[in-house]
Amino acid sequence: MKIRVGEGINPYYAQTLAMLFFPGAKFPEDPAEDDGQAELTASLEETEEGYLAHAALRAGEKTAQADGRYLFSEGIPVSRGKKLALGRAVFAAGKELFGIQPPWGILTGVRPAKVAMECLASGSGIMKTRAFLRSEYFLSLKKATLCTGVAAAELKLKRSLTPDMCSVYISIPFCPSRCAYCSFVSYTTPRLLSLIDDYLDLLLLEIRSVFRHIENQGKKVASIYIGGGTPTILSEEQLKKLLTEIGRCTDVSSLLEFTLEAGRPDTINPEKLKIARACGVTRISVNPQSMSDVVLETIGRRHTVADFLRAYNIAVKSGIGTINVDLIAGLPGDNFTRFSRSLDRVAELAPQNVTVHSFCVKKSSDFLRESTEIYRRGGGDAVKCVDYSQLKLRNTGYKPYYLYRQKNTVGNLENVGFAKEGKEGIYNVVMMEEYHSVYGAGAGAVTRLVRWGEDEGRAEKIKRIINPKYPYEYLRGDFSERALLARLEEGERAVALPGGEELAPDPQDA
Ligand code: SF4
Repeated sequence: MKIRVGEGINPYYAQTLAMLFFPGAKFPEDPAEDDGQAELTASLEETEEGYLAHAALRAGEKTAQADGRYLFSEGIPVSRGKKLALGRAVFAAGKELFGIQPPWGILTGVRPAKVAMECLASGSGIMKTRAFLRSEYFLSLKKATLCTGVAAAELKLKRSLTPDMCSVYISIPFCPSRCAYCSFVSYTTPRLLSLIDDYLDLLLLEIRSVFRHIENQGKKVASIYIGGGTPTILSEEQLKKLLTEIGRCTDVSSLLEFTLEAGRPDTINPEKLKIARACGVTRISVNPQSMSDVVLETIGRRHTVADFLRAYNIAVKSGIGTINVDLIAGLPGDNFTRFSRSLDRVAELAPQNVTVHSFCVKKSSDFLRESTEIYRRGGGDAVKCVDYSQLKLRNTGYKPYYLYRQKNTVGNLENVGFAKEGKEGIYNVVMMEEYHSVYGAGAGAVTRLVRWGEDEGRAEKIKRIINPKYPYEYLRGDFSERALLARLEEGERAVALPGGEELAPDPQDA
């Protein structure tokens, strides 16, 4: 797809808007590689009242154009004015061209609840916030209600945290085999899996330094999250070594939450979960993704529904208080009938958390070549599946508490975490909404140092420190305590300096 934009318009933001109506579109740098089938042309001007944008969309022979305005008098920060004007113009042109209204309107960012959160934090009530999302960002009633509900849950959770709190993320980027849709960095071959012992030794050094730094800063750890990959790929002995070291570094009994991702049912056994419980783990994730063996085979999950049920039973018997179950809507091979059955079966198990993701094809996934089949304007069955999941889970005692969106998701849909009352996954919320600093350890882990100001709705400044992505790079890094502490201290100094620095900003936030 071709994008032509005038002065004052960020071309990447224009691409994001174009994808509302052209899901899965490619934007080749070399014009010769473009198929000439679609185009967005946009311009922007500043007037006395605000910004005026003009957008023209073409799909094959069909064209449509429209204007979009942002007025300085609207009360929305002027820093968002250009984007709003352009968004409104593209939305109107797309609506005319295709006769559809994307349910998320022009809210294109990763964290859609952020805008609602700012409204609520500034004193707007639920109704006013919902109406604002509908009128200014064109959200459908369903999405505006979801977004406002999640923002209210997050705000409640945020107000229960104290300013001296932080969280810790620990990465175990290894899996027993690779799922066909996966784009995470995760080692799966026997040769690479043989690195686990060396990796663990280095990781323990980093974990020690991270906790020492947290102590030096006078901070209190609210939550720990061990993610991956599949952390339960570790043997009993390795898992015990890791969890025991964490227990030496911090008082795990005072944590608000301690999560161990067990992800793949084929890595779970009673002994591992007994160790986890004894070492203070309070939340575990066991993920079938689908409760259909046909779908599991299509997506290369290498386990069956029976394997999941066996693992889930082990998790229940382990006594770990919160179990999360992940499902994915819109998977290849899935349809509404299979998905709704999957969801019903999971709801019958009544785990404390259910997370419903929308299928997303990422660059390195084996499904990429099929992506044009997967992305249909309007989202196909996936839209029905997501709607069903939200209705069913609300009707069975769950509330949405966590929400994010990704690029290239089927139907431009969302990922939603649901929880029984009081069982919300704290780490998920603080990490997604950047409520406090999260210190990362391990390959691919990102430390996010966050400074909040007076404004309750958004972080003032965020500094990211990114670890080497691949385990083999990580194993070559300088993880001496001196080097680690110096890196973290430099980050803390940078985030404490006046002024804002937001790295890798969410397009919607700027
Ligand atoms: S279990 Fe998760 S991280 Fe591992 S290969 Fe499958 S999708 Fe990727």
